[in-house]
Amino acid sequence: MKFKPANNIQDLQYFGEFGGVNPSISDSSTYTFLSAKTMFDTFEGNADGCYLYSRHSSPSNLYLGEALAAMEGTETATVTASGMGAITPVLLQLCGTGDHIVSSRTIYGGTYAFLKNFTPRLGIITDFVDITKLDVIEAAITPKTKVLYCESVSNPLLEVADIKGLAQLAKKYKLKLIVDNTFSPLSISPIKLGADIVVHSLTKFINGSSDTVGGVVCGTQEFIDSLRNVNDGAAMLLGSTMDSLRSASVLKNLRTLHIRMQQHSANATYLAEKFEKDGIKTVYPGLESHPSHQLFKSMMNDKYGFGGMMTIDVGSIDKANALMELMQERNLGYLAVSLGFYKTLFSAPGSSTSSEIPENEQVEMGLSDGLIRFSIGLDADIERTYSIMKACMIELGILSSELV
Ligand code: PLP
Repeated sequence: MKFKPANNIQDLQYFGEFGGVNPSISDSSTYTFLSAKTMFDTFEGNADGCYLYSRHSSPSNLYLGEALAAMEGTETATVTASGMGAITPVLLQLCGTGDHIVSSRTIYGGTYAFLKNFTPRLGIITDFVDITKLDVIEAAITPKTKVLYCESVSNPLLEVADIKGLAQLAKKYKLKLIVDNTFSPLSISPIKLGADIVVHSLTKFINGSSDTVGGVVCGTQEFIDSLRNVNDGAAMLLGSTMDSLRSASVLKNLRTLHIRMQQHSANATYLAEKFEKDGIKTVYPGLESHPSHQLFKSMMNDKYGFGGMMTIDVGSIDKANALMELMQERNLGYLAVSLGFYKTLFSAPGSSTSSEIPENEQVEMGLSDGLIRFSIGLDADIERTYSIMKACMIELGILSSELV
């Protein structure tokens, strides 16, 4: 049977304590026990259904976590205060001094900086590889490797990971395959393709309203329990917990994710096809010209398309900056980092979200100066958006006026 992630979310029935159609919010940091013995058992991790302290778990966080686990097809999930607050404890839970990670070289700049600059302090070393080349990845695996790390669709170059192929390698060498699925919620279900753990920045499409940061780790009950263990759980001890009021609001937004993803994808497809036809260097996994178009197609769930992320290359940082400023002036979107908002967001990753990556490495991975990353919004009239964008490009000499 086909995996239908949006149905899985919608099929969950949560009621508030007075019959509300939304679950009640647990506005408490700590919880009472009727007996001291139950409190002790809860500390030991043996009191199912009891809450101890909200850094460990709370009813509101569990509701959101269970909905996200249903979306990703995992046994359970734990929500965190940010995407980095999900990624960092997962890596630290799985790796210690002397361990090795093989990671995609095109990943979010913060994750890259964590692996490149921070974890070596703890004796954890990472090799960064071209994630589209399984032979290169296999060659990078050593007896010390514990984790394969990638993004299903990478930030910012939109490279697509062959999750099935990576999962086979992970199995062969007894590694954990961690996939950051932030760019492709609902479209790609990494667990169904063999991944062990899925992480998201909820800050982006899943919450969709650019009003908070948030994250989630989806995995087995055993792994999520280990993250929350009071004695040695990285999520519990590093303390990147989401607040209950916020998790209640993210849960409400999650319920419209399927509609939003369809619109983000339809709008991005329209613009990518138009820009490519106009002769602009355009990267979008939905274009036949994308090197991993067929791979994405082979992995995707029905309906949600190729996502809302697209890049164009306008040749230089000066042109990129001028275009972004003009597009903002014409109210086409905002010159801002992040993604998944109703309004289009654009930034030049080389000088913003990927600036943690040294310049020579940016060149090597194809992250050029004139690259603009777009998170395409929910525009009701994408034809109008396109014609105004095109006029901006003609005004700046990026497109020839003969195209008018
Ligand atoms: N993963 C990806 C793919 C991202 O783009 C980001 C942020 O831009 C993160 C993780 C980090 O998430 P957060 O900013 O919520 O900590």
